[in-house]
Amino acid sequence: MSRGALIVTGGSRGIGAAVCRLAARDGWPVIVNYRAGLCDAEAIVAGIVATGGRARAVQGDVGIEAEVMALFDSAVAEYGHVGGLVNNAGILDRATTLAGIETERWERVMRVNATGSFWAAREAVRRMVADGQGGAIVNVSSMAAPLGAANEFVDYAASKGALESMTIGLSKEVGRHGIRVNAVRPGLIDTDIHADAGRPDRVYALADTVPLGRAGTAEEVAEAVVWLLSDAARYVTGAILPVSGGR
Ligand code: NAP
Repeated sequence: MSRGALIVTGGSRGIGAAVCRLAARDGWPVIVNYRAGLCDAEAIVAGIVATGGRARAVQGDVGIEAEVMALFDSAVAEYGHVGGLVNNAGILDRATTLAGIETERWERVMRVNATGSFWAAREAVRRMVADGQGGAIVNVSSMAAPLGAANEFVDYAASKGALESMTIGLSKEVGRHGIRVNAVRPGLIDTDIHADAGRPDRVYALADTVPLGRAGTAEEVAEAVVWLLSDAARYVTGAILPVSGGR
């Protein structure tokens, strides 16, 4: 059986898009998932195909369980089976204190960042165990999980904390099936997520707080993700790797 498809949730922009490009270069057939950005996703696919890789864009909101299931069905229909998953899709809302967070926002952030990743990880594991080929899962957490994101996004930090605990527990459950589960913790990375949260200048304003003295790029996070997916990381599971310039 082949290596199988790599599903990258939120693969149309930012870190996810960089993961799609680098993983395709590493030989993965890639499912580029997106929620609303069809043009962005199609551009990523076109770039991969133009350089000899295999990729397909698949719409699906990871905050809706049935759409996560459908994403895996598409991957299997296209490439036979699923060998890798990157739980990358994630959202932030406007900076505020915890006292300023409404229930709707808390539930929306948890649903996309934590519950959506749970649905995808569960589906990946069920299928990987059934086909007996093993696989690799990488969860994209955040330095917000250990730092707490006080006065900004405690909801977001808590969702990433849940993702990290799931990473550790799941890695112990599925190691004997040849499935590795790891996470990366990006720090300040220059993507659209900050503008979407109303702080387009955030990475520059905080760059001095980073020991390496600058914000990171999506490609620098993607390098770590693709390594964790690869056979070079075959003895690595349950790891949470900061990619944060020392922050
Ligand atoms: P980004 O540039 O805002 O891109 C987010 C991606 O996620 C887009 O492709 C978006 O697709 C997709 N997405 C959003 N909601 C979705 C949903 N419900 N279902 C499916 N896809 C969805 O974000 P980024 O900075 O690359 O962040 C990627 C991951 O890294 C996130 O988990 C984030 O928490 C984490 N992270 C980022 C930073 C940073 O500084 N940038 C730091 C730490 C951790 P559409 O365009 O179609 O909506």
